[in-house]
Amino acid sequence: MRLRNITGCREMIAASDYVIHEPQNYKGKWNEIFGNDHPIHIEIGMGKGRFIMDLARMNPDINYVGIEKYSSVLLRGVQKMESDPLPNICFIRMDAEEITGVFGREEVDKIYLNFSDPWPKDRHAKRRLPSREFLSRYDQILVRDGVIEFKTDNHNLFQFALEELEPAGWQLKQMTQDLHHNEEMMQGNVMTEYEERFSSMGNPICKYVITR
Ligand code: SAM
Repeated sequence: MRLRNITGCREMIAASDYVIHEPQNYKGKWNEIFGNDHPIHIEIGMGKGRFIMDLARMNPDINYVGIEKYSSVLLRGVQKMESDPLPNICFIRMDAEEITGVFGREEVDKIYLNFSDPWPKDRHAKRRLPSREFLSRYDQILVRDGVIEFKTDNHNLFQFALEELEPAGWQLKQMTQDLHHNEEMMQGNVMTEYEERFSSMGNPICKYVITR
């Protein structure tokens, strides 16, 4: 998702207290930001932030960090926080390629990937957020029994993501290629902006939950 350039959005992000501006300074000490020892869950590629903000509202005893590459997109999340502030969430504007410089070993308890960009060209496979390259980064920051949850309506990307698991040393815990008709996996489902849009068009939603 890349919104049209919004004049001044970089400056607005730079001035926001809801955004952590030098996140590498908090590597291994994210609980200082929240002032407690609650578990940390992150969403990579949060877009406008509806999903992670809904989770934060529902789970006050979990700390959430939303990560988004583009200021123009993150700005939407920041604006939502300004009108409805939540104490247990903050944002980072960064490329997730840098994630191991920002979170310490086993500092994160859960990772969400929702409707990640598909990068359809083979030569761009390493940029896909469920690729083996990214899985090895997640391996460094996630607690040993931690899980990654991934949703998408893109069947090619989902197939790719499934094929990446074994070479990267991950295992399927749960999987469906039609989430909205899977009673068990649908329990407690929180919709993302893209999920609402694509499921209302009739696209089946794929989801996996993986562990090492
Ligand atoms: N997760 C949201 C949803 O489901 O509604 C947004 C999905 S949108 C298709 C994917 C988002 O991931 C975009 O906002 C994009 O900028 C962000 N993104 C893609 N690659 C990223 C990366 N390497 N690091 C951080 N954000 C990334």
